Amino acid sequence: MYYVPDKTMIAGFYECKKCSERFLSVQIMPKCICPYCGETPDMEIGPDDVMPDACEDAVLLEVIEGEDNVERMDGLLSLALTGGDYEWL
Ligand SMILES: [Zn+2]
Repeated sequence: MYYVPDKTMIAGFYECKKCSERFLSVQIMPKCICPYCGETPDMEIGPDDVMPDACEDAVLLEVIEGEDNVERMDGLLSLALTGGDYEWL
């Protein structure tokens, strides 16, 4: 497993609109910050400031359910990373 821990039963499959990276996360959210090009929130932002959401470029494409499915998807994505010209569907 590369993106998520072993035995993960459900994972979100995301694609970044900015850098086109695809990845899995155990957190299921409509949008999230891309781990490749996204910036972590500025910790110096005060509690009254609105959190900027412009950096949430990764959108949820699909929810992957089931340990086997998550593992398979994780494997495919890991392959895509290391295999170079892996063809997507
Ligand atoms: Zn990105």
